[in-house]
Amino acid sequence: MVCFRFLVDQSRKLISIKQAAGICSRCGGGASVGDMMTINRFCYVPFYWKSWKAIICTFCGAILKSYI
Ligand SMILES: [Zn+2]
Repeated sequence: MVCFRFLVDQSRKLISIKQAAGICSRCGGGASVGDMMTINRFCYVPFYWKSWKAIICTFCGAILKSYI
């Protein structure tokens, strides 16, 4: 079912971001707490989504820690 994979896609969105204490272990940039949203779509129609929080680097975009 190769074509099925093209119809389903998952995207991560950053809803809001707040400054947090801490630095990125990868680049040393500033860390922030972000409200994230994962959206699964089938034929461009969202059918499943969930929101979660993560500590992300504002400089390189790495997810340093995630918690739901
Ligand atoms: Zn970084």
